[in-house]
Amino acid sequence: MKSLVLAAAMLAAGPVVAADAPSRAEMLKPAPNPAWSAFSVKGHQTEKIAEDFYAFRYTGTRTFFLVTTEGVIVADPIGPTAAKVLRDEIRKVTNLPVKYVVYSLEHWDHVPGAKIFKDEGAQVVAHENCAKHFKDLPHPDIVMPGITFPGSYELRLGNHKIDLLYFGPNHGDCMVAMRPDVEGGKYRFIVDLMTPGGAPMAYMPDYSPHHWVRSLKEIEALNVEAIVNGHGITLSHPSSISERRRYVEALMVAVKKAIDDGMPPNDIPEKVRLPEFAYMRGYEQYIRDNVRRIQTCYGIGW
Ligand SMILES: [Zn+2]
Repeated sequence: MKSLVLAAAMLAAGPVVAADAPSRAEMLKPAPNPAWSAFSVKGHQTEKIAEDFYAFRYTGTRTFFLVTTEGVIVADPIGPTAAKVLRDEIRKVTNLPVKYVVYSLEHWDHVPGAKIFKDEGAQVVAHENCAKHFKDLPHPDIVMPGITFPGSYELRLGNHKIDLLYFGPNHGDCMVAMRPDVEGGKYRFIVDLMTPGGAPMAYMPDYSPHHWVRSLKEIEALNVEAIVNGHGITLSHPSSISERRRYVEALMVAVKKAIDDGMPPNDIPEKVRLPEFAYMRGYEQYIRDNVRRIQTCYGIGW
């Protein structure tokens, strides 16, 4: 409880300075873990996760880069300004060129900004469904992938490889989780599907709840020891995946019951609550919209 209060105080106080940031051991404790709320969204930060493997956060969004003997692999470029800062951070570690930029999904808050790397010779890699979205709705700062793949994909460069793991539609239809081969492949880079210790944002845009739960179960079944998160705390214990999966499942059960019991539709967002998850960051703010999204799911089947 003391640490919960501490975490809340740290959030209220604004950005977490390095001395206050949770240690790796604290971040890797299982859910519910108050340390997962002690993160900063100010400025940028580069953290060495393992030999050759670095997390890079720009304001509230995180990506990573992997240094190999033949060059660098970058995950999401985040945006043109973030990509410039990222390029400078990579230069502090190695002079080798960026050879690949890999998109984790098609969303505009993660993937613009690859031009700076493409201009220096990098190739852009993404699931083929992402390319379809960019063709359909072009964004001036999103570089079209030159290498696409229909399922999962293994990207090799120099002395390393990254597995791009595709689980079908869940949050959009081109999302991949990434498994770099460092330290026996124990890390997964996961964007959006879960944010440790937090409730899903608002009306859960672009999520298919059934497929979301299925994908999280499939990710849980893989041998994973730590998540590198696209938002929120840098590293988390794999129970952060189960925490999100259990929340969505509980939401679906509670909303279904309210519908089956004949509760008036407009009462459902006001009355359906999940007190066992009230500890989660953003719960009070988002529970109504979360419930509405599941109501929609039971209305349209998706
Ligand atoms: Zn996101």
